[in-house]
Amino acid sequence: MSKQRKAVALISGGLDSLLAAKVVQEQGVHVEGINFFTGFCVEGHTHAIRKKDKARPKRNNALWSAEQLGIKLHIIDVSEEYKDVVINPKHGYGANLNPCQDCKTFMVHKALEWAEDNGYDFIITGEVIGQRPMSQRKDTMPMIAWESGAGERLLRPLCAKNLPETLPEREGWVDRDKLYGFSGRSRKPQMALAAQFGFEDYAQPAGGCCFLTDEAYSHKLADLWQARGNRDYELDDIMLLKVGRHLRPRPHFKLIVGREEGENNFLEGYRKQFTHFRTLSHGGPLVLLDGIANDAELELAARIVARFSQGRDAETVTVEVNHQNGQSWTVEVTPLHPDEIPKEWYL
Ligand code: SF4
Repeated sequence: MSKQRKAVALISGGLDSLLAAKVVQEQGVHVEGINFFTGFCVEGHTHAIRKKDKARPKRNNALWSAEQLGIKLHIIDVSEEYKDVVINPKHGYGANLNPCQDCKTFMVHKALEWAEDNGYDFIITGEVIGQRPMSQRKDTMPMIAWESGAGERLLRPLCAKNLPETLPEREGWVDRDKLYGFSGRSRKPQMALAAQFGFEDYAQPAGGCCFLTDEAYSHKLADLWQARGNRDYELDDIMLLKVGRHLRPRPHFKLIVGREEGENNFLEGYRKQFTHFRTLSHGGPLVLLDGIANDAELELAARIVARFSQGRDAETVTVEVNHQNGQSWTVEVTPLHPDEIPKEWYL
C-alpha cells in the first residue's frame, strides 16, 4: 500500500484557499491548514466592533474554512517577522502599501518550514493565474515558488494545469487530470466548483485579505511613518489604524476619534497609553492623542474633541484632559468650526 501523503494548505478564509485544499483532500491526501496572523488581517476586527457590520457573521473565516474541510488549522503569529516584509519589500508595493509578492513568498516560506518540521510533503495555495495584479501573474508565480524555497513542492490546484508539473503531480501523489486550469479575474469557475462541493455562505472579501490593500489604511500607515521619521511600527499602532477617525492637526501629534460606541469601547483599552479626552458637558467620543502636544495644542485638541461631540453647536463644551503623565484637568472650550478644520487634517 502506498504511503499516504501529507500537505499543508495556506488558509486565508477566502473561497480560493478553501477550494484548493478541498481539491487535494478529495484525492486522498492528508491536508492540514495553516493561517498566518500578520496584524493586518481584515478577519473579524473592525467587523467585530463596528455597528454597521453587526449583521455580518462574527466568525473567523479561516477557522470556518477548516471546519468545512474537517481539517486541523494551525494559526501562527508571524506579526514580528512580517514587519520586514511590509517595511522593505524586495518587489515593492501594489496599488497601496500591499507587498503582495513578498508577502506570498514569505508565507509560502513559513509554510515550508512548518512542513519540514512536521513531516509534510508539499504545500497548497489557492492562487489563480491573473486573479491579482501583483502576486498572481504568470511571471511572478514561479518566482514565489523559487524564492520561498518551496520550488516544486508548491502546488496550486486551481491553476496547476496552466503551470509546469510539480513534484506531487510527477510522483503521482495527486492526479494532474483532476486539478484545474483557472485563470483570470472571473470568479465564476470558483463559484461553480464551490457549488459542486456543496460550499455555501463562504467569505467573499472585497479587494484583498488584508488592510494593506486598502487605500485609506495605507495612507494612515504612510502618515505614521512620516510623522515618526522611520518606517517601523508596533502591533498596537497598526491595530489603531483600523479604528476611528484620524486627524493630524500638527506634524507631531494626531487624534484618534471614536466614531461610535464599539470604537469608543475599543479605544478605552488604549487610554492608559495615551493622553486622552472626554467631553463632560455633552455626550461625545473618546479621543486619543498620539504624539506630543504643548498646552496650546492640547487646547486646540480639546476644541476638536468638542467639535465631534453632541455639543458641536454649543457656546462652550467642558472637556476632560487626561494627560499621559497622570495629570487630569478640565477645560471649557468653544468647539472648532468645521471651516477651521482643513481637509488635510483628515487622514
Ligand atoms: S493582500 Fe495582504 S495578505 Fe494578501 S498577499 Fe497581499 S499583502 Fe499579503
